[in-house]
Amino acid sequence: MNATTTSDGAASVLCIGTVGIDEVETPYSHVTNLLGGSASYFAAAAGVVGAPTQLVSVIGDDFPEEFAATLGASGADVAGLARLPGQCFRWGGRYHSDWNERDTTYTDLNVLAQFDPVLPDHFREARYVFLANTDPKLQAKALDQVRDPELVIIDSMNLWIDIARHALHDVLARADVVLMNDGEIRQYTGVGSAIRGARAILDQGPQAVIVKRGEHGATLVHKEGLFLCPAVPVESVVDPTGAGDSFAGGFVGHLALTRDHSLANLRRATAHGCVVASFTVEDFSVRRLARVTPAELVARYRELRDLTQFDDLDPIHVANVSVGHHRAGPT
Ligand code: AMP
Repeated sequence: MNATTTSDGAASVLCIGTVGIDEVETPYSHVTNLLGGSASYFAAAAGVVGAPTQLVSVIGDDFPEEFAATLGASGADVAGLARLPGQCFRWGGRYHSDWNERDTTYTDLNVLAQFDPVLPDHFREARYVFLANTDPKLQAKALDQVRDPELVIIDSMNLWIDIARHALHDVLARADVVLMNDGEIRQYTGVGSAIRGARAILDQGPQAVIVKRGEHGATLVHKEGLFLCPAVPVESVVDPTGAGDSFAGGFVGHLALTRDHSLANLRRATAHGCVVASFTVEDFSVRRLARVTPAELVARYRELRDLTQFDDLDPIHVANVSVGHHRAGPT
């Protein structure tokens, strides 16, 4: 079948998720009326790596015009963004001195509770489908309408594990790659170690699980191997909100542009995810993502590569170690 492609042959990524209005409190500031939602961050992040997005979501009458312009500027096709009477999805979060700890102060589903996604015709040919964090029943309804997806990637979080576990279980089994943070993997699987939990998810069908670890980066658990990728150290964190969705934008965007699902390329995609997320945390909402230049992206990718490379052992050292081991061993 024909893929939905851009002029340079890259596949668009269809993304169903939330688009809404966030309120964020950090130890240093309290900001209201921010463009938020899993799909907003995803689209902005995929735009940074050059992958266009087809957005499926819902907004209310209170969605500011300038937010629609921001989504459009990231390269998102908003033909699948429904507007319903009522208020937007609204979410509030509070961070403490440990940026990895976040309290959700409220999650008001509002128009999301009435949303019944119907994909525009040209979205149904998408080859890459990202089921961003939203109600798993909506994720499944969107996926049902895509004719022949090549790669399905899913994200979720604690709220949906709590209130929609069965629906999440069903849609997760249809995915090729699962993204969740370490706590959510433990919560979902009931397994104490996130890596063992990820392996339990592989048994349900997916080829790979990404364990997101906040400021500690991400771990790729694949049927054929394991890859550890640290986060890019950022001098001053302003707001970590959306780092996970931005990771997904960099990760899936890279896969859609390269159309190579080998383990080697999944490792590069994981690095792209960590790099793009490192920009997100430098400002509120998608503001920093909207300013990232291609040169900055490449420079930070190389910085991460340089930070994580080390040489093989010198053969003389190997020989010395063996001799030392032999001497110290039992006689
Ligand atoms: P992250 O920091 O990557 O977990 O993403 C936070 C973003 O996800 C915020 O912009 C929220 O609006 C959105 N969000 C928070 N909770 C949910 C939820 N339960 N379902 C979907 N999106 C959510």
